[in-house]
Amino acid sequence: MELLKKRILEDGVVLNGNILKVDSFLNHQMDVALFNEFGKEFKRRFSDTKVTKILTIEASGIGIATIVAQHFDNVPVVFAKKMDDSKLGNNVYQSYVHSFTKNKDYFVRVSKDFINEGDQILIIDDFLANGCAAKGLIDIVRQANANPIGVGIVIEKGFQPGREVIESLDVKVESLAIIDRFDNNQVYFK
Ligand code: 5GP
Repeated sequence: MELLKKRILEDGVVLNGNILKVDSFLNHQMDVALFNEFGKEFKRRFSDTKVTKILTIEASGIGIATIVAQHFDNVPVVFAKKMDDSKLGNNVYQSYVHSFTKNKDYFVRVSKDFINEGDQILIIDDFLANGCAAKGLIDIVRQANANPIGVGIVIEKGFQPGREVIESLDVKVESLAIIDRFDNNQVYFK
């Protein structure tokens, strides 16, 4: 998606040679008009399959997913919780995930009330790196006997194995921008 690539080149900052900081439009301040373009593009790419619900993960996925849902007939958006939430009790699907950016492991949890057998779930997230977050969400969808119809990613770091991980689980991946490499703190796309 050219508009997104242009924005990354203008506003993205490469940290420690492997993290892209895009806080000015994606991860802190949010450019809603741009998110709306993401929604149109995901709708085009996933138009062949029925979607009954969108699943994402807190925190950065939530804003993106809510705008994207408006292009999928306003289907409900569910976000997996990373924080301990005692109110959820035992009525949860959960999966163990390794965080790429924080280098620690945590559970993601979704109440059993909000993913139902037969749901057609589109998973949305901001970044794809090693695929751990998306893999955890696919695991949760499958625990619920629902169908992960695809993973829609805003920015994929194509030099990390996330895509192979997701495709090996037989789930389609669509990314709006795929980064080939960071070189001298510059971003190069595939
Ligand atoms: P994965 O689970 O695929 O290894 O990593 C994806 C998650 O890590 C995303 O949800 C995102 O929050 C975070 N992440 C991974 N790489 C980057 C990056 O380069 N920049 C930012 N801002 N977040 C990243």
